[in-house]
Amino acid sequence: MLVLRAASAGVTNRSKRARNADIMSTSDVDTRDLDRMRPPHEAREIIARFLPPMPTEFVPLAEAAGRVLARDIIAPEDHPPFPASTMDGFAVVAEDSSPWREIIGTQKAGNVIDAEVTDGYTVRIMTGAPLPPGANAVVPVEATEPAEDHVVIHQENVKLGENVRPVGSDVRAGDLILSAGTRLGPAEIGLVASMGIDPVPVARRPRISVLSTGDELVEPNQPLGPGQIRDSNRFSLAAALGEEPVEITRIGKAPDTRPELERLLRERFDEDDIIITSGGVSMGELDLIKAILFDSKDVEVHFRRLYMKPGKPLNFATHGKTLIFGLPGNPVSSLVTYELFIKTAIRQMIGVPANQIDRPTLRVTLETDVEPSDRIEYQRGIVRVDAEGRLVASNTGMQRSSRLQSFVGANAFLIIAPRERTYVAGEQVNALMFAPPFA
Ligand code: AMP
Ligand code: MG
Repeated sequence: MLVLRAASAGVTNRSKRARNADIMSTSDVDTRDLDRMRPPHEAREIIARFLPPMPTEFVPLAEAAGRVLARDIIAPEDHPPFPASTMDGFAVVAEDSSPWREIIGTQKAGNVIDAEVTDGYTVRIMTGAPLPPGANAVVPVEATEPAEDHVVIHQENVKLGENVRPVGSDVRAGDLILSAGTRLGPAEIGLVASMGIDPVPVARRPRISVLSTGDELVEPNQPLGPGQIRDSNRFSLAAALGEEPVEITRIGKAPDTRPELERLLRERFDEDDIIITSGGVSMGELDLIKAILFDSKDVEVHFRRLYMKPGKPLNFATHGKTLIFGLPGNPVSSLVTYELFIKTAIRQMIGVPANQIDRPTLRVTLETDVEPSDRIEYQRGIVRVDAEGRLVASNTGMQRSSRLQSFVGANAFLIIAPRERTYVAGEQVNALMFAPPFA
């Protein structure tokens, strides 16, 4: 038997049941709300209430790619920090109209030569090098006829500041250059580096563990015994998590043994920000995750049935600040619910702005007939732009939730609302895009 901790977080389902038992005559009343099939948007709203914001940490710039800024970045200095040549050529006084100039030195990038450019004189200069004192323009080498000690300038009118990037013309000290919530991609990392910001303030990576459950599961590199299948959820979920700035704290599989499952869950309760399990949340007797979550005094289950397909038995619970997602075992169901609920939760926790979390919904024209089901169905689809520039879509074939092939190559969920009639080719439906349309 499991030893439960003394401290219990908030109002648990069990204490709710006890309370309801006082005032209501039937004992199953309090599970009615839990078992109500909630539309996906309602599930997202519920999850959003429990998301712990990630604290700020400072990481070395070299390790910051893919992380999300925890603070606004204000430019501490001007860039470029000196007036810089944008060409290989000759630094001159623009107002000096004589074509013949004596070369008094070479200005390379990385230092400032000790020579002043005045009328009749010039300094050879490289791209990115600082303009030497006295010069106010650069004549590109293509517009000159250089010799050893002098140069003849063929350009008629040299404009003041020509081919020179003035101080602070790329970035001005004090400018807001990156906002909190920005994901650090290549350009952002480069900008932060150019501003001399290292280490960088970012949101801590959510700590996440993944547990596949089921007596039937074996490792991918093992032969199958009778009745066995290979654990694929652990690997697909790890791959999905690998696209987000998270720390996977533990990943494994467990048999359908209650004490073992309880032990494994409990080990992570106070360590992880998110615990993800797959399997064991349907209506069967061995659906132990659902039972453990419901029965644990220090866990509160917030919903466990959704009006969607696949993903109906998704369980969402919390232990203190830790979020627990009991995903359905079928490989497509676990990946679809991850994509819709966990990925968005992670992004919210690390402070990504809403317009970069929600995927765009596009109206698309069906290329084939689609049969609706009795729940909102998230069919895996392929959306592309046809020869006339219209967005057209087809599903990926048979949509059974065990068939991972139905997710392969998909770039959208086609949202198929329940109704009596078939959706026929030519009709429009909404497509939730998780990748750009194909050409
Ligand atoms: P369950 O939700 O545990 O009843 O599982 C539903 C279906 O998903 C069953 O056919 C399981 O064998 C299958 N399944 C559960 N977990 C996994 C997993 N980790 N990898 C692949 N299939 C799984
Ligand atoms: Mg199972």
